[in-house]
Amino acid sequence: DRTPHLPEKGQVDTSRMTVSQEKAIEIRSMNKWYGDFHVLRDIDLDVFKGERIVICGPSGSGKSTLIRCVNRLEQHQKGRIIVDGIEMTDDLKKVDEIRREVGMVFQHFNLFPHMTVLDNCTLAPIWVRKMPRKQAEEQAMEYLERVRIPEQAHKYPGQLSGGQQQRVAIARSLCMNPRIMLFDEPTSALDPEMIKEVLDVMVSLAEDGMTMLVVTHEMGFARTVANRVIFMDDGQIVEMNEPEAFFSNPQNERTKLFLSQIL
Ligand code: ADP
Ligand code: MG
Repeated sequence: DRTPHLPEKGQVDTSRMTVSQEKAIEIRSMNKWYGDFHVLRDIDLDVFKGERIVICGPSGSGKSTLIRCVNRLEQHQKGRIIVDGIEMTDDLKKVDEIRREVGMVFQHFNLFPHMTVLDNCTLAPIWVRKMPRKQAEEQAMEYLERVRIPEQAHKYPGQLSGGQQQRVAIARSLCMNPRIMLFDEPTSALDPEMIKEVLDVMVSLAEDGMTMLVVTHEMGFARTVANRVIFMDDGQIVEMNEPEAFFSNPQNERTKLFLSQIL
């Protein structure tokens, strides 16, 4: 498989990767349409605290829409989404409460280009959380150290490589202290030599026990880090299994076809 130099299973520290019986996310009979187009069909999914779930599937199958519904970047029309016990409704207070819990990292980083790395990381803590600037900057530096780029703090995103920008995006997200992290193809826009530095950061987050929902085609990451892999096609969850069984013994014909194309 194509994942460059990801740690072998034995090298990932699984001691803190424990799955709780408490639900982080509960999705029940969830449906979404874009106009007339039925993009998500009867999605049922429980994510328990501490789980690392990889979502894969062909382009256009609804992966991004599904995870964007979890923090209401997209709105679902039928069914229920409950995040850390809070039901997603039209009540903006609830939406805010949910967004406090959930961090998101995008394919194209989405950093503010006119702000330094440090300012990117302190903006929301200062203005949304009312954190004193000094504290926000100390926290930002801690997370920039965690993603191994503290020396870039005073540069602008455009001065960094794609891999560095994505690590800033992860640090920025962590500065809001989320309990759940959503990743939407975080390495798809990166040159191959930069994929590993981003995956390494994601591995270390998983090792710290973070609940993660990761849309990716990095099947090496799925094998070493995920506890469950979901395959989506045509707006539905077609198959869901532990990585071992998912890769060695896929049940659905569409899963088999997909795996034969990417592995
Ligand atoms: P994936 O992430 O699996 O590639 P998406 O969730 O992005 O799939 O998209 C699923 C389907 O919904 C695609 O057919 C896409 O063209 C369509 N779609 C995505 N966003 C919108 C939108 N804002 N309006 C209309 N159709 C959309
Ligand atoms: Mg997508």
